[in-house]
Amino acid sequence: MNFYVLTLFPEMIRQGLSASIIGRAMEKGILQLNTVDIREFSENKHNRVDDYPYGGGAGMVMAAGPVVRAFRSVKDQIAVSSGSNESTVSNETPVSEKTPRVVYLTPQGKVFNQSMAEDFAKEENLIFLCGHYEGIDERALEMIVTDNVSIGDYVLTGGELPSMVMIDAISRLVPGVLNNDTSAEFETFQDNLLEYPQYTRPDEFEGRKVPEVLLSGHHGKVEEWRRQQSLLRTVKNRPDLMEKAILSEKDKSYLSKIKQ
Ligand code: SAM
Repeated sequence: MNFYVLTLFPEMIRQGLSASIIGRAMEKGILQLNTVDIREFSENKHNRVDDYPYGGGAGMVMAAGPVVRAFRSVKDQIAVSSGSNESTVSNETPVSEKTPRVVYLTPQGKVFNQSMAEDFAKEENLIFLCGHYEGIDERALEMIVTDNVSIGDYVLTGGELPSMVMIDAISRLVPGVLNNDTSAEFETFQDNLLEYPQYTRPDEFEGRKVPEVLLSGHHGKVEEWRRQQSLLRTVKNRPDLMEKAILSEKDKSYLSKIKQ
């Protein structure tokens, strides 16, 4: 899977994603991270990429030109690497031919969640556009963006951290990124439930014991306990998820018992 990040701070993205599981997947070539410095597409002699907002107001706005030119360079790169015979080298390339999805990180977007991560993980190429200052000239967004995504209802200084959050969540769903393919399957948000508590050695730590059932070696009982713990946690911590939770008859009868 190929990620392209259009940003004013490429080193932030590269450093943030170079360690641990994602870094190793990049070294193995399962994932590719391409950062594109929007500033390199400025035609201003001082390399400026922002300007004052029309109509006045605080802060600066990223200009449309450098953003759209940076996007076109990526679109051309993707077309070349996928062997497209479309004429791609000209700046005249119509930007309406939006083949790869272009995600603009914005607090005004749809709030990112696990099912969106699963959907994005099916793509071969994904382009992320990181805003800064007061955001980006609306015309550039209209021309190139296919998805507006927020990582939560708060305002950050830039789209770099949100793009890293998305890349991390999407990457771990790409086959081969996690050592064990099943470890992405049975965890929080599976069936819209939170994951059960996890324990490792020692079996007693400062007087606190691991639940007996986990030491029993009885697979069926362990599974039942884990499912019940998932239900309990979700009801307690995220009752909003229960509306969409996928529940068996056994789950429903357990829930009705604990409500009594
Ligand atoms: N003036 C903009 C508004 O009110 O919608 C906010 C701009 S914010 C200070 C600068 C940039 O940070 C945005 O263009 C966006 O790329 C990014 N950003 C800030 N908060 C975000 C969030 N919750 N999710 C995704 N991106 C965010």
